[in-house]
Amino acid sequence: MRMADDERQHGIDAKIVAALDVIGDALHVLARRTAETHGLSSTQLRILAYLHHGPPPRAQSTALARELNVADPTVSDAVGALHRKGLVERRRDPDDGRQQQIVLTLAGRRIAAKAARRTVPAEIALSSIDPTQAEDLFIALLAVLQRFHEADLIPVSRSCTTCDYLTVAPGTRSARTHRCAYFDHDLPPSALRVDCAQHRTKGSLTAVS
Ligand code: SF4
Repeated sequence: MRMADDERQHGIDAKIVAALDVIGDALHVLARRTAETHGLSSTQLRILAYLHHGPPPRAQSTALARELNVADPTVSDAVGALHRKGLVERRRDPDDGRQQQIVLTLAGRRIAAKAARRTVPAEIALSSIDPTQAEDLFIALLAVLQRFHEADLIPVSRSCTTCDYLTVAPGTRSARTHRCAYFDHDLPPSALRVDCAQHRTKGSLTAVS
């Protein structure tokens, strides 16, 4: 939703948020069009995307609700609709017999694979950015992600900027290069991750500089 106020009245913080707001609208439109193409709601599309990507999170309603930042009943209703459409099925969790896993059917996998391409127009639009500027932009966005996570606006984050394994690389290397203690290798800007399965949440966070 667009901000109604005259942005000239605001400082740089509000202008950054206004820009993110417009970008979020554009990406939301891409997702909504894809969902409509396949007769899905936005929440149903997001659930298919998470299941297609694979864990984390665990393929369970509660974990998905936390990940999507919505209420449990919203996910339960969406999973029920996906089940009626033949796109998911429920199976006993092999790690915990009291729990059920949500699993994509073959039809669900096909739609999820097509839906995963919904961001291609945005990626093409960004492809002409100078590589150094693209790295700067990526670092800045990871810093935004970190701060939104700290402010509990993004409850779940698996980015390098919120990970306990991220360390500053020894001084002889570029200040832009960090190091991953889990993989034991350097992370130049382009190697930083937005969603890493090995992520470990840290108590005190340090911004990427
Ligand atoms: S474990 Fe993953 S998220 Fe954490 S620092 Fe290494 S690459 Fe980044």
